[in-house]
Amino acid sequence: MPMLTAGETRVRVLSGKGIGAPALKRDQRRRVTLLMPEGCEADAAAFLEGWREAERLPFPEPLTETVMTSAMPVDRFAAALGISPPTLYWDERKGLWGWLNHDKGVIGLNRTLLRLPPCCAEAVLAHECCHLLYKDHSPAFWALLRELMPGWAWREGLMRGLYQRIRRQNGHAALLEL
Ligand SMILES: [Zn+2]
Repeated sequence: MPMLTAGETRVRVLSGKGIGAPALKRDQRRRVTLLMPEGCEADAAAFLEGWREAERLPFPEPLTETVMTSAMPVDRFAAALGISPPTLYWDERKGLWGWLNHDKGVIGLNRTLLRLPPCCAEAVLAHECCHLLYKDHSPAFWALLRELMPGWAWREGLMRGLYQRIRRQNGHAALLEL
């Protein structure tokens, strides 16, 4: 099983079908596992780098929905994928960073992203745009996302690491520290 290190922590990498997004877990023996989607093992190191970068980075000033929407590269992504530009809106959905109405070409983004650097919202947008061509999380989906946004895994790590800090600030238990 591939092993990586994040600071002092050894992290084993597991991947397989049914894993729709990278996730870090720690078992009762305090062993840390990074679950990666099928075909994304090579992106694990970048995810961990982003996760650790999140501890160092200052939070930006939160942006309004209008400003963040105008900063999103919707037209560039649409042109690259050969799709019509999707419409964006912002909402709160527990446990989801982004979601898609495939038939209407409408993408929803979680308002928590307004508090994070725009590169995080861009990563979620890129992910949802790729779902306009692939509805699943197959290796073909991830290959397309990697082509559209080579740094997707670093950004996902950063986003999830920053979210852990927000949770800590709100008095919740940390998800996992490395
Ligand atoms: Zn997805």
